[in-house]
Amino acid sequence: VKTWLWRGSLFAKYAGPLVVLVSGGLVVSGLVQIYFSYQENKSALARIQQEKAAAAAIRIERFVRELEHDLAWISQTPWGLRGVPLGERRLDSLRLLRQVPAITEVSHIDPGGRERLRVSRLAMDVIGSNTDLSSDPKFVEAMARKTYFSGVYFRKESEPYITIAMAGVGEDTGVVVAEANLKFIWDVVSNLKVGKGGNAYVLDEQGHLIAHPDISLVLQKTDLSALPQVRATSAAIDQGTARGPVDAMIGKDLRGTEVLSAQAAITPLNWTVFVELPVAEAFASLYASIWRTVILVFVGVLISIVASLWIVRRMVAPIQVLRAGAARIGAGALEHRIEVRSGDELQALAEEFNRMTERLQESYAGLERKVEERTHELQIASQHKSQFLANMSHELRTPLNAVLGYTELIQDQIYGAVPDKIREVLDRVQKSGRHLLGLINDVLDLSKIEAGQLVLSSNDFTFEGVTQTAAAAMGSLAAEKNLHLRVDVTPGLPVGSGDERRVTQVLLNLMGNAIKFTDAGDVAVKVTQSDGMFVVSVADTGPGIQEEDRQKIFEEFRQVDSSSTKTKSGTGLGLAIAKRIVEMHGGRIWVDSIVGKGSTFYFSIPVQAGRPGGAS
Ligand code: ADP
Repeated sequence: VKTWLWRGSLFAKYAGPLVVLVSGGLVVSGLVQIYFSYQENKSALARIQQEKAAAAAIRIERFVRELEHDLAWISQTPWGLRGVPLGERRLDSLRLLRQVPAITEVSHIDPGGRERLRVSRLAMDVIGSNTDLSSDPKFVEAMARKTYFSGVYFRKESEPYITIAMAGVGEDTGVVVAEANLKFIWDVVSNLKVGKGGNAYVLDEQGHLIAHPDISLVLQKTDLSALPQVRATSAAIDQGTARGPVDAMIGKDLRGTEVLSAQAAITPLNWTVFVELPVAEAFASLYASIWRTVILVFVGVLISIVASLWIVRRMVAPIQVLRAGAARIGAGALEHRIEVRSGDELQALAEEFNRMTERLQESYAGLERKVEERTHELQIASQHKSQFLANMSHELRTPLNAVLGYTELIQDQIYGAVPDKIREVLDRVQKSGRHLLGLINDVLDLSKIEAGQLVLSSNDFTFEGVTQTAAAAMGSLAAEKNLHLRVDVTPGLPVGSGDERRVTQVLLNLMGNAIKFTDAGDVAVKVTQSDGMFVVSVADTGPGIQEEDRQKIFEEFRQVDSSSTKTKSGTGLGLAIAKRIVEMHGGRIWVDSIVGKGSTFYFSIPVQAGRPGGAS
């Protein structure tokens, strides 16, 4: 039933698709939800980071712009004849240093490229050094493009500085150079809070680190141009989309950890602020929610599987009951009724089935009754027949015995001399009469057995006795045909129990046949014991019996249709009677034969056939 349940069954057919449908829906909706929440989360995080980067960039840009602005007015001071005297320039410079803390040094270069004045917070002022700076980039570039920013450099091995040079616009104006401390940028970058593990940093045009919370990285002039997010940014600059926002992207930090990276440009310097947060941290809450979704989907799938199985089971169980019930009824259990209480079409089907079975049972019972009646009638008829035969045989025997008796008396010349011719006729009358008597006796026996009137008497006997009786009766017949009759009874056989007269009758019959059908040779009788049975065999050297006849000869009126045995007179009842008698003793009779060589008839009966329980 189990295998039927699964293999190619309704169950597999409906439960499978149901489970796939329900859980498939759950899984798909879970995946969609995960996908969208990932996208939303990512873009929200990216926006926040971009805003942070933009804010930092704006602050840094404003700082630089202010420095530019502060230098602009001082750089307008003209040189030459109508120029401002050095003393005044110095006062202006000192004021600038006071007002702008980031600037530590201001120097003035005349239009000829000579440094005329240097005012510093850190060193003594230098007046009229006249150092020739006419080919120094800070002079050349400033004269050419008005403003010049140097690369970042470090003072005292730790403080980032930049040189800003600015040329005046008016006639006879020179260049003013300021050294500005960039600690402010470092402050901006270090104070930017980016989650727990994130940070901000600033790169110059070449991708070198300018500002980073870890100052040592800056001092090493770390080159970050190989990081994917930096490359993407410089690629964007090269393509001219420069300075527009590059979308936040997944990049790598120096240690190779994946980071969500956003950037913003600091325009006047061509610097870029990067704000980065490790992906693991950025998406931590997203991962948690993905896990939640996965677990929910899993639980949902589990529930849907159980529910589908339950629903399908509920549907299939009554069908299963129907099937099993139908199989039982089909196997003949007509009293079986199918119990289905599903309250639906299946129950109706089961009830229909039960009604059908009921009608089947009724008609079957009717049929059985009729068969019984007929059998009974037949039995009675057969009993009547046997009774009739038994009576008739009895009635026939009396006059026949009289005929035989008187014939014998005539032969014995009790009624006077009998001429030879009549004596011959009387012999034939005797012979025919005896044959008829044998026939009548056989018929009487058989019909008694059939009518159940033949009752075995039970007494103790020995096979020595039985064989002696038989040998005595058959000796003369054998001698007449010159046959050698041998009797061999295994010594020490137990005393048997059964109907001695009938057992003797069986043996006589077998010996009679053996002598009758054998023309030359021996007839050997042998009695042994095996497994609580006497086994008696009668072997002859007669014509033998064909294989196909060996069963038939035990039936009534059966004689083998062969020229060798047909001529011998007989009734065809002897073996049939012998078989009945042996079987009534609980035994068996059979024959072995080699055609042309002879036959051996066997019968076996239980040693204790007459005892209750001995015969089976
Ligand atoms: P019958 O009175 O004809 O001998 P049986 O029932 O005793 O009737 O035997 C049936 C037939 O079996 C016989 O007619 C004969 O053809 C065959 N038969 C019986 N015994 C032998 C035997 N010893 N040898 C050959 N044929 C036999």
